[in-house]
Amino acid sequence: MALQEVLRYLDDHQDDHLKQLCEFLKIKSISTQPEFRDDIRRAVDFLESELMNLGLHPEIIQTEGHPLVYAQSAQREGLPTLLFYGHYDVQPVDPVELWDSPPFEPSLKDGWIHARGASDDKGQMFSHIKAIEGFIRTGADLPVNIKLIFEGEEESGGKAIFAYTKEHSAKLACDMVVISDTHLYDEQTPAICTSLRGLCYMEVVVTGPAMDLHSGIFGGAVRNPADALCRILSQLKDEQGRVRIPGFYEDVIVVSEEIRNEMLQLGHSDDVLKGETGVGALFGESGYTSLERMWIRPTCDVNGIWSGYTGLGAKTVIPATASAKVSMRLVPNQDPERIASAFSAYVQDICPEGVSVAVHRLGCAKPVQLPRDSALVLAGKTALEKGFGHKAVFIGDGGSIPIVGTFQEYLHVPVLLLGYGLLTDNIHSPNERFKITHYYRGIRTTALLLGEVAGLVPLKILR
Ligand SMILES: [Zn+2]
Repeated sequence: MALQEVLRYLDDHQDDHLKQLCEFLKIKSISTQPEFRDDIRRAVDFLESELMNLGLHPEIIQTEGHPLVYAQSAQREGLPTLLFYGHYDVQPVDPVELWDSPPFEPSLKDGWIHARGASDDKGQMFSHIKAIEGFIRTGADLPVNIKLIFEGEEESGGKAIFAYTKEHSAKLACDMVVISDTHLYDEQTPAICTSLRGLCYMEVVVTGPAMDLHSGIFGGAVRNPADALCRILSQLKDEQGRVRIPGFYEDVIVVSEEIRNEMLQLGHSDDVLKGETGVGALFGESGYTSLERMWIRPTCDVNGIWSGYTGLGAKTVIPATASAKVSMRLVPNQDPERIASAFSAYVQDICPEGVSVAVHRLGCAKPVQLPRDSALVLAGKTALEKGFGHKAVFIGDGGSIPIVGTFQEYLHVPVLLLGYGLLTDNIHSPNERFKITHYYRGIRTTALLLGEVAGLVPLKILR
């Protein structure tokens, strides 16, 4: 059995695969800070030589931002094609003094690898490359066609991958996209993420008097913009945690009882959530559990607010302006454009007399619903269960991964979110880490996925 040989090869080469990941993690490929441009180049070179050594003829695609790295195996007719996506860039490391070991000197401690990018996303994306290596090094034919695309601007909001997917959808054509940039449900339970919330990010600016006024002389005679802003913000949600913007819930898909029951079975603990967040009591839309509030219900939050005098001591002013940043997390089938318009209209409508309000749109991402019953996704679930030795569950994610929606829209195929990380991996924070056994299990899972998907041929019947 070729696959057994591949799995044996992967087991035998765990130490090598760990060392190679460490080399990758030493590269300071922070995408948002221009001084790391050479390190971005080094990460691209690293991937290029990895893929070249596997005979995959990598292509470095220059963009206005950081390069894309693309490679594919020889495409054989009649075989299903998997497109693997990952990102080689990482988040900045500040505050660096809070790291227990230097972020770009990978340290192995108590079964974990600590380094920036260990989990997000170098460790996870590298597991795909190592699994493919297993087939190539053992001389086994790849049982499916492989395409790989890696970007370097995921952490800095770059546009290259979006433009490339739109323009080269024929080149990226596949039967399923596979992304490992999410997490297991908990240390034991592997998970496939099937819903991601969208985002609508707004800025609200209330303007009153032509300049900051003396609050003794003018106080009581004019509307205070900070006061007006608070009135507006306080009317975004009611006491039950429901958003009051007219039409806000109109397009929200009602999640089936079956799926809600499945979520209940996950054994989520509100006490743990309170501990993790450091709050004495949880709050959210009434009628829903906290997991439902985070995964399948939309919400609205003030992210920042500023106005008037905030320095030391007292300064008696009525500020001329007051501003806030407000974001809404959206669920299928809410349309960010429509929600942004509804938000603006509502804020204009409730703005008190004596001040004016301007609303700016800072960013939008569509919510994403992924299939749970596609034969390909179920193949992923089986691979995950075999790879991690435990029944897998479907989960949601309260955040967004914008590229997922773009893949769905332009490639018209399921996207499989196969997370090998953990929620507690400290991604984007000091002491980022990745469990070494999960790295190895991830590599195995990807190899098993190839085998499972190959078993679906002929694919047409099973789709
Ligand atoms: Zn990531």
